[in-house]
Amino acid sequence: MSFFDNLKDKVSKGGAAVGSGAKYAVEMAKLNAQISGKKKVINDTFNKIGEKYFESVADNAPEEFKELVETVIESRKEIERLNDEIKKLKGVAVCPFCNSEIESESRFCSVCGKELPVADSEGDFVD
Ligand SMILES: [Zn+2]
Repeated sequence: MSFFDNLKDKVSKGGAAVGSGAKYAVEMAKLNAQISGKKKVINDTFNKIGEKYFESVADNAPEEFKELVETVIESRKEIERLNDEIKKLKGVAVCPFCNSEIESESRFCSVCGKELPVADSEGDFVD
């Protein structure tokens, strides 16, 4: 057996011995958990960088970011619309004078006391 064949033989046997057993499994799980933790830190940090960048360029994003910025703006609008739908489902309206959430059937705002305009069947105030 040549020196290199001998070496290859030792390395492959060594690899097989290291890559097995309960201790190996525990160490492997620990290391993988640490890697997952660090990946989460990176992802959270990327999110923060993205949010800060978004807030700083939202109105005037460079061309390469325009589509991404637009996606965030559109998604935020959609969330607002969906939250309005939830309010309607819950029978909640928003007082046009003080912005408090109130029952959509009320004639007067329970917070500021002002007389409310008439609300339609969906809880939106009509003029
Ligand atoms: Zn009010």
